[in-house]
Order: sequence, then C-alpha cells, then structure tokens
Amino acid sequence: MRPPTLRVGQGFDIHAFVDDPERLLVLGGVHFPGERGLAGHSDADVVAHACADALLGAAGLGDIGQHFPDDDPAFAGADSIGLLRRAGQSVRDEGWTVGNVDCAVICERPKLAPRRQDMADRLSDAVGAPVTVKGNRAEGLGALGRTEGIAAMAVAVVWR
Ligand code: MG
Repeated sequence: MRPPTLRVGQGFDIHAFVDDPERLLVLGGVHFPGERGLAGHSDADVVAHACADALLGAAGLGDIGQHFPDDDPAFAGADSIGLLRRAGQSVRDEGWTVGNVDCAVICERPKLAPRRQDMADRLSDAVGAPVTVKGNRAEGLGALGRTEGIAAMAVAVVWR
C-alpha cells in the first residue's frame, strides 16, 4: 500500500477599509457591527479568501481569482463563505481530504478575540475540516498599523 501524498498550500489576502456605510465588515463569515467595511468586489472577507487560496494551492488548483473572477458580476457582493465552501468542494472533487486550515489575521481593529470561535466555527463548517483563526496586531507598523486595512495568511494541509 502506498503512503498517502501530503500537500501544503499557502494563502494570502489583503483588503483596504472604505468609508462606505453600505459596506459591512465580514471576517471569517462573521459580521462585526459598527466597524468600517473593506473594499472589494465580493463581501471582501479576507479571512475566507486566504483560506480558500490555501486550499486551492494545496490541491494544485490555482487561486481564488481563477475560480471566482473579480470582474464577474456573478460574484458581486458574494458571500465569501459560499466561495470557500465551493473551493473546499473542488479540492475534494480531486480526491483530496482536507486535514486542517490555520489562518493568521493581521489588523489593529476590530478586536478579533471575542468572535474568534464564531469565525472558526463558520469557516470549519464551510471547509468540512478544522479551521483555526489567530489575531495579530500590526504594532502600529505600516499600512496595517495605520488601520488602513486587514491582511490574512493561511496554510492548509490536504492528503490523498
Ligand atoms: Mg480578497
């Protein structure tokens, strides 16, 4: 019997805050009321986007931009948890089992800790495997430190 093939994927995403009261802040599928939203074609959920890219990369399936083009009206305002779910399904359709996804979010605000488990639960449900989320402040450094946006980095492990 051959040993399983393990693969790792990395995902990164960054979105800028916008002064548009119509834009809601959604991170890991969780709405943060009263916070400025992020610019983007979809709902700009950087956490879901980084996780999707990590999964697609692990399976050698390209990136989120190829699967869900940001000039396609079908994805305008899209719920990125739905896109993540579809990315996970694409990975499984190729015979891969998802081991886990771990995501680090870098931002000065909002405070993530109170909603961290909610985000992990929503992301895990979408992926069908454990997803963990960690929050990191940017310590005042650079654009993220000036609260101009939010970045997220994720890694995923798959095997078959
Ligand atoms: Mg994005």
